[in-house]
Parts: sequence; structure tokens; C-alpha cells
Amino acid sequence: MAQYANIIIDISHEKLDKTFQYKIPEAMQDQLQVGVRVLIPFGKGNRAMTGYVVEITDVAEYDPEKMKEIKKIDTEGIAIESQLIALAAWIRKNYGATMNQALKTVIPIKEKTSEKIYRQVKLTLSTEEAADQLCQYEKKHSTARIRLLQALMEHPVIDYEVVTRKLNVTAAVIRTMTEQGVVKVESMRSYRNPVKPEQAGTYVKVLNPLQQQAVDTITANAAGEKKPCLIHGVTGSGKTEVYMELIAEAISQGKQCIVLIPEIALTYQTVMRFYSRFGDRISIMNSKLSAGERYDQFERAKRGDVDVMIGPRSALFTPFPNLGYIIIDEEHENSYKSETMPRYHAREVAIERAKMCGATVVLGSATPSVDSFYKADRGEYLMISMPERVEKRPMPVCHIVDLRQELAAQNYSVLSRKLYELMEERLEKKEQIMLFLNRRGMAGFVSCRACGHVMKCPHCDVSLSAHNNGKLVCHYCGYEQSNVKICPECGSKYIGGFKAGTQKIQEMVQKTFPKARILRMDADTTKSKDSYEQILSAFANEEADILIGTQMIVKGHDFPKVTLVGVLAADLSLGVPDYRAAERTFQLLTQAAGRAGRGTHEGEVVIQTYQPEHYSIICAAAQDYGGFYEQEIFYRQMMHYPPVWHMLSVLVASPWEETAEEVSRSMTESVLETHPKLLLVGPAEATVSKIKDMYRRVFYIRHQDYEKLVEIKDELEFFLDQCSAKNISVQFDFNPMNGF
Ligand code: ADP
Ligand code: ZN
Ligand code: ZN
Repeated sequence: MAQYANIIIDISHEKLDKTFQYKIPEAMQDQLQVGVRVLIPFGKGNRAMTGYVVEITDVAEYDPEKMKEIKKIDTEGIAIESQLIALAAWIRKNYGATMNQALKTVIPIKEKTSEKIYRQVKLTLSTEEAADQLCQYEKKHSTARIRLLQALMEHPVIDYEVVTRKLNVTAAVIRTMTEQGVVKVESMRSYRNPVKPEQAGTYVKVLNPLQQQAVDTITANAAGEKKPCLIHGVTGSGKTEVYMELIAEAISQGKQCIVLIPEIALTYQTVMRFYSRFGDRISIMNSKLSAGERYDQFERAKRGDVDVMIGPRSALFTPFPNLGYIIIDEEHENSYKSETMPRYHAREVAIERAKMCGATVVLGSATPSVDSFYKADRGEYLMISMPERVEKRPMPVCHIVDLRQELAAQNYSVLSRKLYELMEERLEKKEQIMLFLNRRGMAGFVSCRACGHVMKCPHCDVSLSAHNNGKLVCHYCGYEQSNVKICPECGSKYIGGFKAGTQKIQEMVQKTFPKARILRMDADTTKSKDSYEQILSAFANEEADILIGTQMIVKGHDFPKVTLVGVLAADLSLGVPDYRAAERTFQLLTQAAGRAGRGTHEGEVVIQTYQPEHYSIICAAAQDYGGFYEQEIFYRQMMHYPPVWHMLSVLVASPWEETAEEVSRSMTESVLETHPKLLLVGPAEATVSKIKDMYRRVFYIRHQDYEKLVEIKDELEFFLDQCSAKNISVQFDFNPMNGF
């Protein structure tokens, strides 16, 4: 059987998709794998060149008679590239994508970029002068200046971007302080880490017994079995210190580490803690880097200039040659799942990469994903519990307010009586308030305001969505019914969706508290560049009393003056037509509650809901993960949802509605023909049924074995290759997190 190999020659080139096909000599067929480095004759003169195998195939792209043979397998030193290409192949196979898409995900493209200028903010005053200046700023209550000056008194040099993005100090403030001779901004052509090696190591804490135990367990495991570890530790239990200790140990053994932290949670404090501990041996990535900048960072890592890469999802592919740990903080975060093809999950890819190179994955969260907890519970992951806060700071007091009773008491406001009362009190005391609208997506579910009953699909146990045509539709299976006018549970006529957006709520709250200064943060107010940072900075500067926002406001930033958090309608995320709705709600509410009382004042939380008896709400209010998990996993088990089963969702999109309909239908028919007993639902209209003039149909397949779903994905790809329909685009999503 003739076999051919597709080979790339310059793997960091812009034209990553330029592959060359070669024949595989008989003797080589057993050894050749994707990722292997080979020597090939190239060009007219048959110059020997190095290349990497990216695909092995039986399909000849041109006349096999004219095809050259691979000369030799190059075994000298395992190149990190080989590992990453093999990882790309694994991604391609397990998530569905072209090899080119997978390679582009894994390997950064070298691009000609204009030279980047790096800037740093430096303190120009002596310690005493700075202390004097601080007093003056304090007299004037210039909070932003105070914040920057205090930071500089601890770290005399800070990256400009860290100051603006993480410390939320605006360019105008920096300019004023420059004019006052307090700071100066320095520009440089090549990046210099602000923390000099000799200053590093100043930040080391003696671990408490729980932390030490976590470190010991993980290092013992890393030296032996190398199971992925899950640290389940409440916020403030000292997980970050555990990560840093693990990293320090790995570095002392000549290894490198990758730390994934969702961008929004990578705050100034966290950045500085890593800087102070590891000095210029760390590098921090953000998603705003251009391809060229990302390439540069990866080159530094490959050269051995740094030992630790911290960043969002894509930092996972840092080409460290001798990886010790891949740490994933806030592992439950949705941002770890790619929303473009290949739709990979960073956690799963990290585990695969670690397997390939003998590294260990460490996951951490206060609210672990049901997925990870399930695996830890079954022994696939090593579970480590850190149930106590370091300083034994108390958790906030949580009130659940039953909105049905507000209605019964003829309170039609968005603020319950309890929330109103507490807000009034906080405004009087000049403490800050966050109001949180956990709206997600655009799906409008329908529920009863008198009894809280949510209209659900009888087959899928997820909420039905109201459509403009007056129908209620299930986006999993396509089930339809006419909209209800009277609640089937209690007969009430108060049926409706939650329509009020953040803007409407701002108006209503302003009317209720005319003197309060209110800021709003949502998709509308954060459209322009840096507006997100500006709003947070204004709130941190106490330029407002109340911050109203979507889930954007829940993460990251610490506002010590916030002593009250109000969740306006917990049902908003609970009603989302998605089997993960309860999990998401539990996580959001637990995290939102954690926003209150970060400072010295104790915090209070009010959760308003029509379903006060729902376990995700009760358990979040009680900070009871175990209780939540037990009920959630029961539901997943019963309904055959992940993580107990696996789910493949397939999106078929076309500019013609009939084509989308026909192709998705024939795809499901062909699957069911080969696998008659398969649990397949749909096709149905996607949650968003049309985007950019493309009609979208989606269907779902569930199975106990992930492998089986991969097999079916391959069959569907084959089916599409044979399919004559034009203008269709198909996407696969395994164990979807956001749905189509
Ligand atoms: P987590 O990552 O679990 O939220 P952190 O590691 O950020 O927790 O720790 C919470 C706070 O407690 C931080 O301010 C940290 O500096 C402090 N802390 C953590 N471990 C110790 C320790 N062993 N001794 C003193 N303070 C600690
Ligand atoms: Zn009702
Ligand atoms: Zn259904």
C-alpha cells in the first residue's frame, strides 16, 4: 500500500498551509508518525532540507511516479516542534478541523511586525519624598494617584500596560503625575522585565499546613504517576501560593511551567506576586498580542530566556522544551474552550500535552467544573481539598429573596424590599454596591412570575425559548408548542420572559435613588477600546456608588469598598436552554457572592429569584459545592448529559435555508443508518437561527464513549466530502459549553 506524507518545511512561516508531498519508503512505514522530523530532497537540485510530517495519507496529490521519497528520519534530539505538531494532530482528530487549522492554533505565525516599543512607569522620588507626596494625594482624595504611587512604593518600576490595564490608572493620570515629577515613563525597544533578578524572591510566604500538604501531594504525584490534580479550594484558600511553590520546585529542577489564568482574573495583584517571586524568569501574555508579538514571546521561551509563561488559553502552546507543570487556574471558566474551529478545551489539550512530555497538569478552582469534579471523584484526577480561607476571613452573609412574594406584596420594582433596604443603608454609609444581571445570550425563556414555573422541553429537560412566531421551541430536539398564556402549574396569568436589560435597570435604580452615582458595564458600554478598564477604574476610584453590569463585573477585580452585591434575577442564567444552566448559575452566584466584603468590612449578598428552592441557588448561598455536585451529577446521569455521557453537537450553516435543512437532515439520516440505536436529537434551529445571512441548523449526538463520537465525526466528514451541496459550512463541537 502506497503511503504518502505531507510535509511542511518552514513551520513558523506565514504559509503554514504550504505542504509538500513525499513518498514514504517501505522501511520507514512503521516509524513515521505525524510530528516526526525528516530529511527530504527539495527543489531542482535536490537539496537536503529538514521538514516535519504533518499528515500521513493514502491520497496522492499528484502523479506518484514523479513523487520523491523521504530520505531519512532525523532522530537527533527531539525537537519541541515535533511534539507540538503531534499535539495539533491530536486536536484535529479529537475536535474536528483541518490539519492547517489545528497547526495554526498550536504554532504561532512569524509575521513582519513593526517594531514594538515597550514602556514602563518608574518612580522618580526617594522613599521619603514619596511618603510626603502620598500624604498630599490623600488629602485631596486622588484615589487613582494614590493607587499608582502606593504600587510604585512597593515596586519602583511597573509595566505601562500593567498600570493601565491591571491597576486601572488612566493615561491622563500618568501624564499628570509625570508633570508633577512623581513618575517618568521610559520607552525601550526590547522588553525588559521590571523586576530585576536580585529583587526576585522577596515575595515568599511560609505555607500553612494545608498548603504544604497540597504541595507535597502534588510533587509526589509529579515524580510518579503524574495524574492530573484538581485543587478544590475556596477563594482565598491560598491556591496561588501553592502554584508558586510548585513552580519554584520545577524551576530548581531545570524545568519550565505554563500557568493559564483567564485574562479577566489576571489582576494587578496577581501579576505582581508572580513578578516579585520569579523576577525576569516569567513572561506574561495577553490576548491582545499580535501574532508577531506572540511569536516573539514563544521564541524567548524556546531559547530558555524565561521559565514561566502566564496567560490565557493560547499560552498553553508555549514551546518550552522541558515542561514541568501546566497549571490551570479557575479551571471551570468558559474561556478555556475555543469558540472557533478547532473547538478545543484547554484542559483536555493540556492533559494530552503533559502526557506527551511527562509534565503534570494542576487544575484549581473554588467552583470546579462538574466535568473535572466528576473525574476527580472517580479517581482519574487526584483531588486536593483546601476548604479554609488563609486568614479565616468570614464568607459573606447571603439572603435569598423570593420574587414571587414581592409580586404578592405588590412590589413591581426590580429591587426587592430587602435589597432596597440594604442599598439605602450602604449609600448612607458611603459604601459601594454591585448589582449583577446574569443575563446570557439572547434566548428568551418563559416562566411564571407567580409560582416560578419554567416552561421546559418534555424530552430534554431544558428551557424552551420563545420565538417571534409565538411558539416555544426546544433548541436541542426541535420540539415545538404554542406559547402559554396561563401557567400550567398554578393558573396565574403573570407569564413572561425577563425583558429588562441593564440600561433599563440603570434607569429604574436611578429613579429609586436619584442621588446615587451609577455606572453601567455591559456589551454596549464596553464597545470602545479600553472602556472596560475605564469603567472599572472609575468604580475603583469611588467615582460611583453603584456598578450595574452583566457577568463581566463578577470576575477579577477586587473592590474593597463593595459591601453589598445584589443578584437581580438568578433565574436569568438558570433559564438558559442548556444542560449546564444550573452549573453556570451555581458558579456565577458563588463568584458574585465572593465579590462582597473583600476589604475589612463584612459583606452581604442578596440573591433575588423566582425559584428559591432550586439547589443551585440554595447551595451557592451556602457555599456548598458538595451539595450542589451531588444533585447536578444525578441530573446529568439521568438525562445522559456530559460528563457522564459525551455530546457532539454539529452545526450546519448555509446561506439557503433549504440547504441547511436538507443537509442537516441527510447527515442525521446517514448517521442513524449506520448506528440505528444512537441517541441523536435534532436537527433543530440553532439558538441563534441565523447569523450574517447564514441559516443555522444543529443536531446533537450523545454516547458513553468519546471515541465513538470521534468515529462518527470522521464518518460525517467523509459524508460531507461526498456531498454535492454547495455553500455549506459545518462545525463540530464536542461537549459544547456555549452552544451554537
Ligand atoms: P487563592 O488563590 O486560593 O484565592 P491566594 O493564594 O491568593 O488564594 O491567597 C489569599 C491571600 O492569602 C493572599 O493575599 C495571599 O497573599 C495570602 N496568603 C496565602 N498563603 C499565605 C500564607 N501561607 N501565609 C500568609 N498569607 C498567605
Ligand atoms: Zn405559575
Ligand atoms: Zn427537547
